[in-house]
Amino acid sequence: MEGLEKSLVPEALHTSSGQILLEAKNLCLKFKHADQMICALDGVNFKLRAGEIYALVGESGSGKSTLARCLCNLLLPDSGEIKLHDLTYGHKKLSSAQRDQLCTLIQPLLQEGALDPALTLRQALAEPLQARRMTSPEINQQLLKLCDTVSLNRDLMELNCADLSGGQRQRAALARALSFNPRLLIADELTAPLDLSVQAQLINLLLQRCRKSGLTILLITHDFNLAAFAADRIGVMSKGKIVEEGAAEELCSRPKHPYTRALLHATLPASPSMARQRILSGLNEDLMLN
Ligand code: ADP
Ligand code: MG
Repeated sequence: MEGLEKSLVPEALHTSSGQILLEAKNLCLKFKHADQMICALDGVNFKLRAGEIYALVGESGSGKSTLARCLCNLLLPDSGEIKLHDLTYGHKKLSSAQRDQLCTLIQPLLQEGALDPALTLRQALAEPLQARRMTSPEINQQLLKLCDTVSLNRDLMELNCADLSGGQRQRAALARALSFNPRLLIADELTAPLDLSVQAQLINLLLQRCRKSGLTILLITHDFNLAAFAADRIGVMSKGKIVEEGAAEELCSRPKHPYTRALLHATLPASPSMARQRILSGLNEDLMLN
């Protein structure tokens, strides 16, 4: 168990000194709901460094998914600006050339799922590669590589996405997102519907990918344990604002904001090492079953 733990937790897990990849400035967005205006984003400011894993935590309704959709240009904020690499966007719609560029920079793995259930796994994974005008042999080679990267059995390729298990679907969605070779992956409650051992495997895959290829990950979760386990930095979101952020270890052991303290208090175990142990024990259980 000791050896497994060491190999699963990359040494550089909680350090990152990359350049700024994304900067969000003063993002605001209100939704009209019945007669009320709901302030989903209330002046969000934050930065992501290249190669880091940044976990955004907060209770349901705090604005996490709205922020993710704005960053992916799926929703337009009322005001504010996002700078991602050499692209600046915000309230205005992007041109189709800019949207193509955005696809190569940022890929979402959003709560509502990304795979068309009517497509076979092969079709779902091949689509983005065909759009890049790859030849058939190139696509086949790339598909096998992608399946291996996310540990998806190659024999599943001809199954409909609807017939995959929850864990397989999440891996397939991850493979599809990775096929764009993006700089930034936004994973919104990626593991929430999965049981603990499958969560651990998927998160471990993301961590490996992040460390190997310098992928930056924005991990959105309501689960402080998961954030503490996986992230270099954590941002805490409440009522449309990031109320506190900091290095994962520091924020979990010395939370400053009362909301962070309350969230941590409600989530046991509250320290990164205990959270890591909990998640790894889920992974160990799974390994023992197979
Ligand atoms: P989280 O992902 O943290 O659970 P959301 O970003 O989904 O939070 O939602 C933030 C707030 O905005 C909530 O009050 C939610 O009800 C509201 N909201 C989100 N999307 C819409 C929408 N399309 N129309 C109206 N209200 C919305
Ligand atoms: Mg959400």
